Amino acid sequence: MIDVVFNHATVRNRADMLQFLDLCAERGLGTVSIWGNEIEKVGEARALEALRAHGMRVSGYNRIGPFTPEGLGKARAELERAARFGADHVFLFTGGLAKGERDLPRARDRAEAAIAGLLPMTLDLGLKLAIEPLHPMLVGDRTVIASLGHANDICERLGEGVGVVIDVHHLWWDEHLEAEIARAGKAGRILGFHVNDWLIPTRHLLTDRGMMGDGIIDLAGIEGMVRRAGFAGPIEVEIFSEDWWQRDPAEVMDIALDRCKAIFGRDRAA
Ligand code: ZN
Repeated sequence: MIDVVFNHATVRNRADMLQFLDLCAERGLGTVSIWGNEIEKVGEARALEALRAHGMRVSGYNRIGPFTPEGLGKARAELERAARFGADHVFLFTGGLAKGERDLPRARDRAEAAIAGLLPMTLDLGLKLAIEPLHPMLVGDRTVIASLGHANDICERLGEGVGVVIDVHHLWWDEHLEAEIARAGKAGRILGFHVNDWLIPTRHLLTDRGMMGDGIIDLAGIEGMVRRAGFAGPIEVEIFSEDWWQRDPAEVMDIALDRCKAIFGRDRAA
């Protein structure tokens, strides 16, 4: 049995957090990746109670950001809530350039300083911050960290308490991917491995990710890099897709599990 975690975003349009936890439990999955805004929809007490009733653990908590004064103002509350849910790591969402800004190096320095500012609080709460580099086409408005090399550099400068999440959708194109995955692994800072696929054509940068196997990413190849780098954690399914959001959440999860088995399972075709 391969270790799979679902990110709630994969089925969020038709399953609230309580339904999502039930669907995971029905499939024998003991770990989930969750969202603060979804907790708010069902109420924190009910969400925590359901999590405990299922005996489930939380890997990723989404998220802190964007790094505007307002987004950073909520950071402590988000971190505290992530700690109450026992999350392993908390995702950072830096946001892109400020309005009217054209100085990308400066925006990057500002993002790094913000991460540094979050670290003491994060360590106090026993959490880890996860930098997830996003696809370079998202630099303008979603993130200023768009390569694993940049994320590794930041982690190296900031030290303990911050790591990286490797999402195939964002990183598959990178000619330095294997070396940067190895570098992250050597430092013990790979916190997660997100899977989906890159469709041709991709019709929307945020909401047209593919189901594993429907696109052009060498998923097994990248998983091999991550495993060789020492990452022993679960494979996290994270598909933001208008198409898959329309479908029955149970069906989506079953298809995703079958694909994971076929692509990442030990019995996969050679
Ligand atoms: Zn991801």
